[in-house]
Amino acid sequence: MDIKEIVKFLSEYDGRELRLMEVCGTHTAAIRENGIPSLLSHKIKLISGPGCPVCVTPASYIDRLCDLSLQDKTCIVTFGDMIRVPGSKEALQNVKSKGGNVKMVYSPFEIIDLAKGDRDTIFIFAAVGFETTTPIYAVLLDKIISENIENIKFLTALKTMPAAIDVLCSDADNKIDGFIAPGHVSVITGADAFKPLAEKYSLPFVVSGFKGEELLASIYALVKLQGQSKVLNLYKSAVGDRENEKAKALVDKYFTPSAAYWRGMGSIENSGLELKEEYSRFDAGSKNLTEDLPANKGCSCAEVITGRKSPFDCPLFAKVCNPENPQGACMVSGEGACFNYFINR
Ligand code: SF4
Repeated sequence: MDIKEIVKFLSEYDGRELRLMEVCGTHTAAIRENGIPSLLSHKIKLISGPGCPVCVTPASYIDRLCDLSLQDKTCIVTFGDMIRVPGSKEALQNVKSKGGNVKMVYSPFEIIDLAKGDRDTIFIFAAVGFETTTPIYAVLLDKIISENIENIKFLTALKTMPAAIDVLCSDADNKIDGFIAPGHVSVITGADAFKPLAEKYSLPFVVSGFKGEELLASIYALVKLQGQSKVLNLYKSAVGDRENEKAKALVDKYFTPSAAYWRGMGSIENSGLELKEEYSRFDAGSKNLTEDLPANKGCSCAEVITGRKSPFDCPLFAKVCNPENPQGACMVSGEGACFNYFINR
C-alpha cells in the first residue's frame, strides 16, 4: 500500500475509537512536526507517553541536585534542559544564581576535564536517561576508573521502559489500544522486549522509524492489528529482534536493576538501574527518591506523561506556561509533549 492509500485509510477510518500512544519523545516531536494528527480521522487519537527522560524525573531529584549544588566543594554537571526543570521549590538555574555550583555540558565526558582541573571539588553528573543513555555512563565509568579519577560521582535516575509500559497498560481507566514502541530504546532492547507486554495485554506494538511516512505506516499497522497480540518491527534498519549484547554487557558491568520513581506513575519495580554495590563510591546519594513533589500546583505534567491529559487540556498551556517560562518539565525538554505541542500548535 502506498502512502496516499495509507493517508486515505487513516483519514476516513470510521471504526471503534482508538487511543494509540507514542512512547518516545523523539516520536512525539516527529509526529507534531509532520502534522500527523491532522491527517487522521477524529476516531484515531494519538497520545504521548513517558518517553522524555527529563519529564519523568521527579521533582525530588531536582531538589536533591539543588541541595548538592550548594554544598561546599561540590559541582553539579548536567545538560542544559535539566538546569531549567522546576523542582518543588526552584530550578537549578535559580540556585545557580544564588551561588550554587552548576556547570552545563554538551557531553558527559566533559566531566573528566572538569574533575582533572579541580581535584578538590567533587563533580556530580546528573545521570538521567533510558536504555539508550545508560551505556554511555558505563563507558564514562570505564574511563574514570582507568584514569583513576576520584572526584566524580553520579546522581542517577536511570530508567528502563518495559515495566513503565506495563503500568500504563494495566490502568483500566486510561485504556490504550496500541503502542508505537520507543524507537531509540528499541535499538538497545530489541523489538522482542515488547512481546511479553503484547501477549499479556493482547495489544499491538509497532517499532517505528522517525520519518513522517514511517510513522503513518506504523499508525496504519496499529489500526490493522487491533485485537492482536503482536510486535511488528517496521524499523529494521536500526532495530533487531534481540537485545544489543554489547550495550547490555557494558550496562551489566556497573548497574543493577532497581525500582525507580517516575513522575506521574510513582515507584515502579524493576524500571530503573542503580550502581552496583561495588561501585557505590561513585554514587552521590541516588537512593530513596520517592515523593513526587509538584513543582507547580496547576501543572498537569503527571497526567500528560501518562496520556491521561493532552497538553492542550492543561489550563496553563500557552497562557502562563511556554518554553520561555516553563511551569513543568514537559515544557522544558525538546522531547517533552508540552514543548512539542506548543511549538507545533
Ligand atoms: Fe505543566 Fe506547562 Fe505542560 Fe501544563 S503546559 S502540564 S504547566 S508543563
